Amino acid sequence: MKSIKGEGSVNCPNGCEAFDAEYWTLVRGDKDGELKEALIGGELNLVSCPSCGEMFYHDRDIVYFDPPKELLVFVSPKAEKDKFDEVKKKMQKDFEFLRKNLSEMNISYSPFYLAGLEELKALLDYDEHCACQSEVIAALSAQKGFKLAALAPSHARVKGYPLYIPVARDKYDAEHVKEAAQAVLAENPALTLLAALLKDLREGKELPPKI
Ligand SMILES: [Zn+2]
Repeated sequence: MKSIKGEGSVNCPNGCEAFDAEYWTLVRGDKDGELKEALIGGELNLVSCPSCGEMFYHDRDIVYFDPPKELLVFVSPKAEKDKFDEVKKKMQKDFEFLRKNLSEMNISYSPFYLAGLEELKALLDYDEHCACQSEVIAALSAQKGFKLAALAPSHARVKGYPLYIPVARDKYDAEHVKEAAQAVLAENPALTLLAALLKDLREGKELPPKI
């Protein structure tokens, strides 16, 4: 399934005559880097009124899908935020339909349901932040001779953990992860996602399953 573009009538917020515009209805984040960049930069589905020149978002349903990152997001128009419960039910039906039709993709993770492109942008910003911290963790772990355990991206995202966690010596258990996490955090205390994991482990929470 590729990114999908639609075309339709758009109404200018200044009440000008409606005009036709193209807009994206499905973005494959893993395949179309340019569209993902446009989304993060706030340019996706930005249209300009031919009558008055006003630039505005064509506020409509959009699906964002990035299978390697286990990220599937249904975004409803921001204008429908006040009836979000109702809109969410419709998006859940869309998800069931998509999951059945894409059974070969094995979508075992829960999708996100958001209102408006700004919320999607915030989620993608978080993912970037998580990827950056995870890379720093990987580099520091290599320096210190720690192994890395990878978490399922959907699991890491929901828990607020990094994508990779350091393991002292070979055994993947809470004690060895705590030891390694502490040593990595001593080098770089700004790794908030790793700090969150360490805090949870110290409180006796379960070690997340590695993949
Ligand atoms: Zn206009």
